[in-house]
Amino acid sequence: MLREHPPCPKCGSRKVAQIVYGLINVTDEFKKFLDRGDVLLGGCCVDSDSPSWHCHQCQHDWGNWADDEQEPPSWDRKENLI
Ligand SMILES: [Zn+2]
Repeated sequence: MLREHPPCPKCGSRKVAQIVYGLINVTDEFKKFLDRGDVLLGGCCVDSDSPSWHCHQCQHDWGNWADDEQEPPSWDRKENLI
């Protein structure tokens, strides 16, 4: 359900989190990703220059959420909300 994480362009680390924006329905499954650091909550406001990836190793943020928009994470879909 998660896209494959790219390595950090700065330090090459694979300890990278996908940053998700919007109001997320935090399911048990989603919590697991959060706990593992696979995803990061970016808040509900997203700008056109908001990064889509974060490196835990060197704290570098990169990518562009607007460019990645065509493939939203499945938990961000309305049908998951009750
Ligand atoms: Zn890095």
